[in-house]
Amino acid sequence: MNWHLLPLSDISRLLNTTPSGIATSIASERLIEYGGNQIEDKKKKTVLRMLLHQLTDFMILILIAVAIISGFIGDLVDTIIILAIILVNAIIGFIQEFRAEKAMEALKDMTPSNARVIREGNTFEIPAFDLVPGDVVLLEAGNRIPADVRFFETHQIKVDESTLTGESHNTEKNSAKLPEGTYSLGDRNNMGFKGTFITNGRGAAYVIATGMNTELGRIAKMIQIEETATPLQKRLSAFGKRLSIVILIICIVIFVIGRLRGEAVLTMLLTSISLAVAAIPEALPALVTVALAFGAKRLAKSNALIRKLPAVETLGSVTYICSDKTGTLTLNKMSVQEIYETPNVKTTSALFQTSPLLIAMALNNDVAKETNGKWIGDSTETALAEYAFNKNIEKFELEKKLPRVAELPFDSSRKCMTTVHQTETGIVVITKGAVDMLWAKLDENQKSLIPELEVKINEMAEKGYRIIGYAIKEIEALPKTINAETIESSLRFIGFTAMLDPPREEAKKAVSECKQAGIIPIMITGDHRLTAINIAKQLGIITSEEDLVLEGSVLETLSEKQFENSVEKIRVYARVNPEQKLKIVKALQAKGQFVAMTGDGVNDAPALKNADIGIAMGINGTEVAKEAAHMILLDDNFATIVIAVKHGRRIFDNILKFIKYTMTSNSGEIWAIFLAPFFGLPIPLLAVHILWINLVTDGLPGLALASEPSEADIMERPPRNPKQNIFAGRMALHILWVGFLMGSVTLGMQAWAIGSGISHWQTMAFTVLCFSQMGHILAIRSDKESLFKIGILSNKPLLGALALTIALQMMLIYTPFFNSVFKTQPLTIYELTITLLVSSIVFWAVEIEKWIYRLKKKNNFNGNENKNKKS
Ligand code: ATP
Repeated sequence: MNWHLLPLSDISRLLNTTPSGIATSIASERLIEYGGNQIEDKKKKTVLRMLLHQLTDFMILILIAVAIISGFIGDLVDTIIILAIILVNAIIGFIQEFRAEKAMEALKDMTPSNARVIREGNTFEIPAFDLVPGDVVLLEAGNRIPADVRFFETHQIKVDESTLTGESHNTEKNSAKLPEGTYSLGDRNNMGFKGTFITNGRGAAYVIATGMNTELGRIAKMIQIEETATPLQKRLSAFGKRLSIVILIICIVIFVIGRLRGEAVLTMLLTSISLAVAAIPEALPALVTVALAFGAKRLAKSNALIRKLPAVETLGSVTYICSDKTGTLTLNKMSVQEIYETPNVKTTSALFQTSPLLIAMALNNDVAKETNGKWIGDSTETALAEYAFNKNIEKFELEKKLPRVAELPFDSSRKCMTTVHQTETGIVVITKGAVDMLWAKLDENQKSLIPELEVKINEMAEKGYRIIGYAIKEIEALPKTINAETIESSLRFIGFTAMLDPPREEAKKAVSECKQAGIIPIMITGDHRLTAINIAKQLGIITSEEDLVLEGSVLETLSEKQFENSVEKIRVYARVNPEQKLKIVKALQAKGQFVAMTGDGVNDAPALKNADIGIAMGINGTEVAKEAAHMILLDDNFATIVIAVKHGRRIFDNILKFIKYTMTSNSGEIWAIFLAPFFGLPIPLLAVHILWINLVTDGLPGLALASEPSEADIMERPPRNPKQNIFAGRMALHILWVGFLMGSVTLGMQAWAIGSGISHWQTMAFTVLCFSQMGHILAIRSDKESLFKIGILSNKPLLGALALTIALQMMLIYTPFFNSVFKTQPLTIYELTITLLVSSIVFWAVEIEKWIYRLKKKNNFNGNENKNKKS
């Protein structure tokens, strides 16, 4: 249907609707008929694809081939076992990926998306999913258009349609029908399309298509959670490739030595390829995704919704959190505390004369009132309208007598808003906004009043109140063009209001937590300098003379270089335009800082995109901001950012622990098999043993590390440098030496058992390697604290995984069936006891490593203390 060519009367007839909307009962019927307003995701991975993906790794394919060949020639049982282990491994991998995929989908569903509709003449806020054709939607700057619509009322409305048309300029919309002809989507300027963004103005429109019937549905292009590789993943896959080559070379050496010692070709092929499969960390980047996706799921429970997965990882590196004031650091519960009315304001309109300020407060806003009496709209505006209402100046009654004939919507750069009304004598213009923005718009003869007014205003602002000024002018007729120049000039000041928006209690605590964690909290606000300073002091953002405050007008004049010189000391930015946030982000980044930036409006989008972590508000944020952000705060609360940072640090820590654990285990296996011939020992493990260890010991407990609680000092240490190589320093050394110790302990066990004439030496060596890894994982639960300090019971899933692993290993040792397939033998109590004792060596060694580390740190600390005292 060519909706853009039809007059509005036809549209309302075809859809059986009017500007007052459809009935709720009809909406329910249509919802059943047309289905929910959502785009179905066609790009879902199929179960089969996910399963196959697990099996198509190059080394696994080679292993399968060799196992099958060796089955034909010799041991069929071996082949079956190898294939079974590979299959089980693939299934576990698949379950992981499947769950991660589900977790991501769940996150996507949670992205809040509401629409404001009129039904039966009343305004409601409903989930965008419930929209049906014929609904009347109210749209304003910052909204994502929730369905395909035809406008019937527009006020300077501009739409960014680049997601649909690829064209980057904003299209201005109106409601007139288009002349006959063919029009591309971008030229249909009385239509709005699902998924595009309103960047300016406001309007009302009929929904003409929903869900898959929209243009967006037709091209089935979804704005999805981006799954780009995270910095850690990139580094891991690059490192993994290099490491794979080293491991392959080692496996070839093992093969050659084995052959020289007279082992069968197939046995050696199986052993060395199994070792390669087990030791090459090709799954690490994927496992990082799994850990991050689950981390994201947990973050959502704490009200932080992740839109771009790398954010989970980078959260832990944040050094500056730049936060909006209103609603994030404060409650966004505005209430008018005091008003000041300019005495003796005369108007020609008698209707206006009673109390010009209260009437202006009632008329100049876009709030609505639900049938249950609840005000909806911007909190500043609802507070103002409610105040007038309580003084018996009722907005909706008044609007009948003084109808709105034109308007200039609020925008954060102008910091004011104007409505124009018809009176019985002519036209009245009402402008409200930040007082310092109003001064320039006042009539010349008014300007002498400003100094006196400023004294009064500063007094209020110092108390932390938000000040909104009001000015009016009366004219005979509407000018032809309506813009800030023609309308917002030669005004008369009629008074101001002082509103309180109390700081959030929890934000105070979060600010001090930030500081302890080496993160600097910054307040950015469009509000008055004095208001901002008061709130910043209450929250602890400003605590000394050294904490600087900068105003937007000064920031404007600073060159990039000048600004960079002071940017790290500034704690509060007042009266800034959203556009200036980008300058702040860039300057901090130029200083090597890692910046989290919050935002809610259309103009915040560039700063959110460019910040290391862009954070949009879930409740008061516009769709544009949410789309640009890496993370959405479902409760708009500053404290949630700090909680997210803490989670981010913990998730990253646990990923590192997981990497440390698997790589050390792999290193242990390689050392054991590589070194055996040098000590004249037979290869300690069979191919099935290696694969078993890889599946059971590596897999199960490793995953439980994700449940590790955060380390006690997690918010007392400085942020992690995102550029730091994780393998540099302690980690690489640990992997090498602990792996070497594991290999040596295994070989020692083997040598001792052979020397003592124990025929079960292979089972003992196999079990020692397996249990040593158990000991290792317990010891690395904390990076520096002893296991006994953090509490053996404090990670129950890990204990469960360990118990299961031990039970499975016992099953291999003590059941005849597994004895024959894994070529193991039941150990005597004596042998088992020795095995367990030897296995604990790794645990104690790592505990000693941590103890030495703690000792060194303490000495360093004491040394520094003494130095400080002396100086
Ligand atoms: P934040 O503190 O989070 O930056 P903010 O509310 O201070 O948010 P804006 O919404 O851009 O930032 O408001 C900037 C200034 O514009 C306010 O301090 C106020 O003086 C004025 N203002 C805010 N809302 C309105 C409105 N609806 N109409 C007119 N003026 C407004």
